[in-house]
Amino acid sequence: MRTYSYGRQSISEEDVIRVNETLRGDFITAGPGVRAFEQAICDYTGAKYCVAVANGTAALHIAALATGLGPGDEAITTPITFLSSANCVAFTGARPVFADIDPRTANIDPDEIARHVTPRTKAIIPVHFAGQSCDMARIAEIAHARGLRVIEDGAHAIGSDYLDTKVGGCRFSDMTIFSFHPVKTITTGEGGAVTTNDPELHARLCAFRSHGTHKDGEMADTWEYEMRELGYNYRITDFQCALGLSQLRRIEAFKRRRREIVAFYNEHLGLPHLEEMPFSNACFHLYPILVENRRAFYFRAREAGLSLQVHYIPVHTQPFYRERFGTRVGDCPKAEAYYERCISLPLYPSLTDEDLAEIVRRVKGCL
Ligand SMILES: *Cc1c(COP(=O)(O)O)cnc(C)c1O
Repeated sequence: MRTYSYGRQSISEEDVIRVNETLRGDFITAGPGVRAFEQAICDYTGAKYCVAVANGTAALHIAALATGLGPGDEAITTPITFLSSANCVAFTGARPVFADIDPRTANIDPDEIARHVTPRTKAIIPVHFAGQSCDMARIAEIAHARGLRVIEDGAHAIGSDYLDTKVGGCRFSDMTIFSFHPVKTITTGEGGAVTTNDPELHARLCAFRSHGTHKDGEMADTWEYEMRELGYNYRITDFQCALGLSQLRRIEAFKRRRREIVAFYNEHLGLPHLEEMPFSNACFHLYPILVENRRAFYFRAREAGLSLQVHYIPVHTQPFYRERFGTRVGDCPKAEAYYERCISLPLYPSLTDEDLAEIVRRVKGCL
């Protein structure tokens, strides 16, 4: 029996050729392949600047550092996300604060953000869960009124639209981050990127990617560089970027197929699922359903050749957060209720119509 997992990469022959070409060239890291991928992300999203890095977590880390987050500051994010959206705040010594979700979308609820703002709040990190954009106009309004920075965690959302803008264009934020892990919509193996329209943030992001070093003005033509803050080695290689560039060329086809699969599940499963808001045209990354007795369903599905995943254990309930930041079970009741029932079905472009019919048959048999 064939096993289906919840996500997987789609690698074409063209992808393989592009990576091979780069490996035979002069630069395999920090070369023209990185700049070409960054430029392609700018062209696609409409952002002015892009900084490609080693992974999505590194992208979040340098974005948090670029806002100046540090000890004594707070940043508000959602509990229904991968750990990195909150960990990046903790990396800087600041405090992550969790605002509850809107159960229709499982995205952070703007009213809950407003409720958690304090004089220490410096940033908001909305996560476009499952690929659907948060209500960015409302989040930007809250941020502007209080002088807060906004970092969009778009790890799920490359290819998605919010109103008439592409996620990553940063019309309603300071920065957006992407992840190119193999389960995400396009992949570089490991990889990530930050987009911004702000030249100063761009310069800081570049420095944090490479040890905190700057090489500007008269230094550009010499051996000189200056380390002005503590940075990291978060660089990505040219052959990873060659893969990313080749993948990005197929993003509209990926999006079309991902939306077809979501429409098929909505029609043929008849199970509670996320709603798509009128402002959204999502390149869906996940298809979570809500089931009763999720644990039993998970094991029955595994027996039936469906290797599913739960997205996500609410971050504020993790032992590290309870111990370090005093968060508690009960802090975000809507997120916790969502978590009790959610489980993500297979969603990736290489699933055929026959695969989908088979998956629906198996899911119904496990209920
Ligand atoms: C995958 C993911 C990340 C982290 O990306 P990596 O490339 O795995 O480091 C961050 N945020 C969200 C919401 C993610 O799904």
